[in-house]
Amino acid sequence: KISYNSTVALNGFSEGKAEITLDENTILEADVVVASDGSRSRIRRTIFQDEIMKAVLENEVVNIIENEELAGKIESNFLKFHHENGGLTFGILKLSSSKILWYCQFDITKHFINEDYTPDCIKQFMLDNFDNWNPLISSIIEGSGYENAHIWRVYELEKLNPFYHQNVVFIGDAAHPLIPFTSQGVTSALKDSFTLTQLLAEGNDLQETFSKYEEDRKSEIEIHIKNGRALLEQFLLPLNEQPKNTLPISYK
Ligand SMILES: Cc1cc2nc3c(=O)[nH]c(=O)nc-3n(C[C@H](O)[C@H](O)[C@H](O)COP(=O)(O)OP(=O)(O)OC[C@H]3O[C@@H](n4cnc5c(N)ncnc54)[C@H](O)[C@@H]3O)c2cc1C
Repeated sequence: KISYNSTVALNGFSEGKAEITLDENTILEADVVVASDGSRSRIRRTIFQDEIMKAVLENEVVNIIENEELAGKIESNFLKFHHENGGLTFGILKLSSSKILWYCQFDITKHFINEDYTPDCIKQFMLDNFDNWNPLISSIIEGSGYENAHIWRVYELEKLNPFYHQNVVFIGDAAHPLIPFTSQGVTSALKDSFTLTQLLAEGNDLQETFSKYEEDRKSEIEIHIKNGRALLEQFLLPLNEQPKNTLPISYK
């Protein structure tokens, strides 16, 4: 049975099963829990209560807009603009003849956004920080609606937890929140689920399966975490101090 729109919580473990609550009323005794509840995983925090989530010095505004006139002005290739002092970028990706995805990355110690996060506050933040940039950026900022603009407040785990505990196993952001500069969040979540599925299908002992899964995936994730932190350091530097010719994503 698949339950949609249910909030899942972990109550604890008894007799080799995990006790799960759906919407605070239905209790399930689970043989296996594959936790994929995202970077702030409630299940992970229930199990690893001492974990430390740290705010990352970079946050993002991400927006997708429908505007045929603006989309008509943009080539299909990805465009990214950097402030010469570092810590501020604007990226543009045309998704279709009428749809544009744009985002900005900002150093939270230098650029402050009103934490009400209303559409008006987000627009004001964009006008304050980007209005005198390239005219294409000004026209996008002014021509955008902000109802669906998203503030990505970025957090990372100070130290990775194990990827499993008893019969609960974590995949995707629940196992390993990755900072945006890696560009590896979706790919890593897919690779986790593929690897875990293959191993579960072998039908071996659960602890052995989870241990192999962790062994297979953790080393790659640690590389992305290290690369992500290095890319963050670069982003915060003025352009003339940033190393040249580095690929702006993490790769193994
Ligand atoms: C604005 C933004 C832009 C991004 N851009 C990129 C990008 O360009 N490239 C990239 O690779 N990655 C990007 N990422 C990261 C990417 O979205 C994640 O790495 C990816 O979605 C992880 O997938 P996931 O399934 O592990 O977690 P999620 O996609 O976060 O899914 C977790 C799901 O669990 C649900 N959930 C949470 N708690 C509970 C609960 N208690 N009970 C039930 N359900 C629950 C949530 O509602 C959500 O649907 C971006 C993230 C953001 C926020």
